[in-house]
Amino acid sequence: DNQQEQMNIVIVGHVDHGKSTVIGRMLADTGSLPEGKLEQVRLNCERNAKPFEYAFLLDALKDEQAQGITIDTARCFFKTAKRHYIIIDAPGHIEFLKNMISGAARAEAALLVIDAKEGIRENSRRHGFMLSMLGVKQIVVLVNKMDLVHYSQTVYDQVVAEFAAFLAQIGVEPQAFVPISARDGDNLAFRSANLPWYQGPSVLELMDGFRKEKDQAEQPFRFPVQDIYKFTAGGDDRRIFAGTVETGVIRTGDEVIFMPSGKRSTIRSIEGFNQPVRNEVGPGQATGFTLTTQIYVKPGEILCRGGESLPHQGGTFRANLFWMGKHPLIKEKKYQLKLATSRATVTLQQITKVLNSADLTAETDRNQVERHEVAECILKTAKPIAFDNSRDIEATGRFVIVDNYEIVGGGIITEAFADAGTLA
Ligand code: GDP
Repeated sequence: DNQQEQMNIVIVGHVDHGKSTVIGRMLADTGSLPEGKLEQVRLNCERNAKPFEYAFLLDALKDEQAQGITIDTARCFFKTAKRHYIIIDAPGHIEFLKNMISGAARAEAALLVIDAKEGIRENSRRHGFMLSMLGVKQIVVLVNKMDLVHYSQTVYDQVVAEFAAFLAQIGVEPQAFVPISARDGDNLAFRSANLPWYQGPSVLELMDGFRKEKDQAEQPFRFPVQDIYKFTAGGDDRRIFAGTVETGVIRTGDEVIFMPSGKRSTIRSIEGFNQPVRNEVGPGQATGFTLTTQIYVKPGEILCRGGESLPHQGGTFRANLFWMGKHPLIKEKKYQLKLATSRATVTLQQITKVLNSADLTAETDRNQVERHEVAECILKTAKPIAFDNSRDIEATGRFVIVDNYEIVGGGIITEAFADAGTLA
């Protein structure tokens, strides 16, 4: 359908199981490499008397990116007839989690790579678990290096059975398993005759089958207020509420509600920055609004649209939280919570479960969360804030926790508790 449709996909897996090779091969086989890049890298290998590897393509592209503007994560782009893909290369699961919870590189779907010869490793499990805890539901598992196991269906079936059983335990049902050889491009962009017993789709076909997360324009309107500018026009005090639209669409004349304050008004004008006057704005657009009445609110409130479902307002919620602070997360301490543009003091109320990401054992009687642990817990902010369940609206259902100016944790909201003062 839409020519410009984009999708973010993360690729994860144990080191050396073939992530970079999958990406390099995919870029080459879809004709997405810059002109002459493949030849240049091959030539370079020849000159240095080392065998060519598709993974080197990625290094070459990264070097190029690094010389331009600074980048936080390595990203590769390729397109199919259906859409553009942005592949997020997660160097390690800590970086991956950081990117996901900060929203820097949110993935809508994932490819998880397992080496057929080496089999399932601790990180294969850990990554599957991370994806589930972050709410990434579309997962395809690539059983790679099938050439090293003589394209054996028996080996493949064993890996699939073992990994599917593990994923089922943590409530994850992958969309598909695919036997591939990334080195040779088998079943990546093209189906392969080396694996005649596999009748399913190629990885690329499966990717084109991933669904876009809910169309952001069709979700309820969410505009976290970043700044408020005051000015006078014709002797009147006016205010511009500035920020970026996360979801939904709004037009001049629409009724709006600030959350959590519940103050109501109507959009008088949509202000662009060096842009022509618009009557309507949607997701991703940085903009400002003036209102028909004088409203006093602070930055951090979420501007919502009348007649649509509103965010929760309160401060007690259940979350899947990933902790990366040097000191453990404890109940006695006050932290700063950042959710969209709001800031609030937050405390840990209860730990329902702590998961050891290495062996995935769960502990239910813990008082603190240690570094690199994942916990299901209940948090409470000191003042009411507006937020969504991440299942409904991702951008306003995710938060980070700051201590001493450093991000020490973050997570997604999985359940809201009714606090006092819920808006009628
Ligand atoms: P990453 O650490 O997951 O990014 O792994 P790489 O893509 O760097 O691959 C690690 C090693 O495995 C490299 O030497 C690759 O050439 C090799 N490799 C990757 N895919 C295949 C494959 O399908 N078959 C074989 N024989 N080797 C592969």
